[in-house]
Amino acid sequence: MAIINENYFKLKAGYLFPEIGRRVKEFSEKNPDKKVIKMGIGDVTQPLAPAIVEAFHQGVEELASASTFRGYGPEQGYAFLREAIAENDYQSRGVNISPDDIFISDGSKCDTGNIQEIFGSDNVIAVGDPVYPVYVDTTVMSGKTGSCNSKGYFEGIVYMPCTEANNFVPELPTEKADLIFLCYPNNPTGTVATKEELKKCVDYALKNKSIILYDAAYQAFITDDSIPRSIYEIEGAEKCAIEFRSFSKTAGFTGTRCAFTVIPEGVMAYDKAGNAHPVKPLWNRRQSTKFNGVSYPVQKAAAAVYSPEGKKQVSETIAYYLENARIMRESLEEAGYTVFGGVNAPYVWVKTKGGMTSWDFFDKILNEANVVGTPGSGFGPSGEGYFRFSAFADRDNVHEAMKRVKNLK
Ligand SMILES: *Cc1c(COP(=O)(O)O)cnc(C)c1O
Repeated sequence: MAIINENYFKLKAGYLFPEIGRRVKEFSEKNPDKKVIKMGIGDVTQPLAPAIVEAFHQGVEELASASTFRGYGPEQGYAFLREAIAENDYQSRGVNISPDDIFISDGSKCDTGNIQEIFGSDNVIAVGDPVYPVYVDTTVMSGKTGSCNSKGYFEGIVYMPCTEANNFVPELPTEKADLIFLCYPNNPTGTVATKEELKKCVDYALKNKSIILYDAAYQAFITDDSIPRSIYEIEGAEKCAIEFRSFSKTAGFTGTRCAFTVIPEGVMAYDKAGNAHPVKPLWNRRQSTKFNGVSYPVQKAAAAVYSPEGKKQVSETIAYYLENARIMRESLEEAGYTVFGGVNAPYVWVKTKGGMTSWDFFDKILNEANVVGTPGSGFGPSGEGYFRFSAFADRDNVHEAMKRVKNLK
């Protein structure tokens, strides 16, 4: 008899984005003449930069010729890409990360989900609230939790509420937390963490022998130089943090697929007897067993992000999205909303008016302004009463959507 992984039944039924899709479809079917503007799902809209496309083509051409053909690549990823990452993303900012600490993958969603496999099932996981749903759902799938209570919290997960009161930077848990997911710039709130705030997290992790799982998918949107782009800009993080980065939002790779995970030599986890073991060899073992690498043309394309033209073109696209975010922020403020984020991040986090719930606000702006956003409560109970607008959109649509929202009664 085949036994199912019953942990899957604990997951909340309607995942957020299918439910949004369902309501939008229903509205569009009833109102075929209305043009709906989508600012919901965080997917990029601008095409790949020319320098990236050119490198992508070159990679394909090399595979098309017997003399330059390649089959399986190195398991950790090609050295040319890992070297470019180490130099441009870390060493140039004074952070000592070596190409050997970098593991190329097909996505940070997969990596942030898969990473738990190398840690024992007794670990207590801490997450922000609201949060990118992947961290919670993969924790549930792995069997580390009980069921979900009526408030929307899973038994066994430590939630760190991120609210207006604490400026969306979580209070560190008072109870035991072994693996702590942090995401800055944050999805969904669009807020960032300062060096001092991250230092507190690193100190907590060092003191408690915990590991920080730091998702920096949106680091490219940081324009304020005082805000750290990497957790390793914080002293001590090289002993207690794993960092996840992705080319998805940085360079429009959501459909192309390329990301990487950084695990420095000094990051340790413990066996039952309390002996320390480096984590990096375990991730190497996991990846080389279960993953066969990202395609060569895609890695070539990713490396072009670091070429002089690539850097310039990519930063222009980022600036485009950030200008969208600025327009959205200002328009929403003019319309009388309290707005967070959207400065060093592509998300604007809006407080609904008069205590309206996130889903009521969703229905209101869908029906009356024909604009789609994401209900904050879909990211966790502390997101209730908030709403996320994504700056990944065409400029004309941003202007039109904001005009309609301003005209709401
Ligand atoms: C978009 C996103 C990612 C990137 O995922 P990929 O699988 O690399 O496309 C990772 N973390 C967060 C929080 C995101 O929003």
